[in-house]
Amino acid sequence: MRILLQFPEGLKQKALEHAKKLEKEGHEVLISASPTFGACDLALDEAKSLNVDKLIHYGHAEFQHVDFNVEYVSYEIDAPMDLLPQSLEALKDYTKLGLVTTIQHMHQLGTVKQFYESKGHEVLIGKPYGFAKKPGQILGCDIGSAANIDSKVDALVYFGGGIFHPLGAVLATKKPFFVIEPFQGTIERFDGYRELYAKKRKAKILRSLEAKRIGIMLTTKNGQHNMALAKVLKAKIEKSGMSAGILVANTFDFESLNNMLEFDAFVNTACPRLSIDDIDRTRKPLLSANELMEVIHMREELAMKPRSPGSTVQTRIS
Ligand code: SF4
Repeated sequence: MRILLQFPEGLKQKALEHAKKLEKEGHEVLISASPTFGACDLALDEAKSLNVDKLIHYGHAEFQHVDFNVEYVSYEIDAPMDLLPQSLEALKDYTKLGLVTTIQHMHQLGTVKQFYESKGHEVLIGKPYGFAKKPGQILGCDIGSAANIDSKVDALVYFGGGIFHPLGAVLATKKPFFVIEPFQGTIERFDGYRELYAKKRKAKILRSLEAKRIGIMLTTKNGQHNMALAKVLKAKIEKSGMSAGILVANTFDFESLNNMLEFDAFVNTACPRLSIDDIDRTRKPLLSANELMEVIHMREELAMKPRSPGSTVQTRIS
């Protein structure tokens, strides 16, 4: 069988080891070197053009059904637990804790829960919205396991590697949010990111108010492609008197976007995290669809109000 292997960035270091195992079983093995960040981003174009019989995607659970032979291989990573006793001091004022993690540490969630319960905390585990599959699991674009219990707990705790996942969850919740990163050996409170990102959001909306031409980012990635949204946004932009073009890529290269000097702002229809995490990588504002709608609405309000020379732009953004 001809097989294409696909690893997320953190697991690419294991690619050859897995390829050799499959070769020993008699398979012809190819390894995708393209970037990938989730099961929303299967190497289907490569798999089809290379005429492979199967794509093996490591490290993520199925995101959506695709019409191709894909095997998903989950990748459990044992995170050291030695920070848990230390975290008790930081959590001592919060009785009810909401616990979240990523797919790589789901197998440890029960142990973490038991630990806090044994120390007198009540621990809640929420349900995801749908892209994530397991209670307590969060994805960059599915923070339901945190948001669904935000109102019921005193504080939220993320246990696991990296800050990409908890950052999405902290922005969608209101309670004190602690990140226990066992590989870095850190216990941090992440609430401060809420204000920081609210300011960045406000700034990019204000910068977009004078835009004349908007680039709509449309990815070809299987789980992120949204042509319908791109078309709706194009129609709305044009109706509001601006010009729009739909920009297509698999993975957006920010250098290339920055070379598209005609555009005054970009709106993202791909991974929702681009318009949060990558806003400092484009010279022009990188908006989400909702932020674009705010821009259009504010432009309409401003157009209705006569402005005296030298007056400043009044906004309703809070
Ligand atoms: S956050 Fe982005 S990269 Fe991650 S699963 Fe969601 S769409 Fe894919």
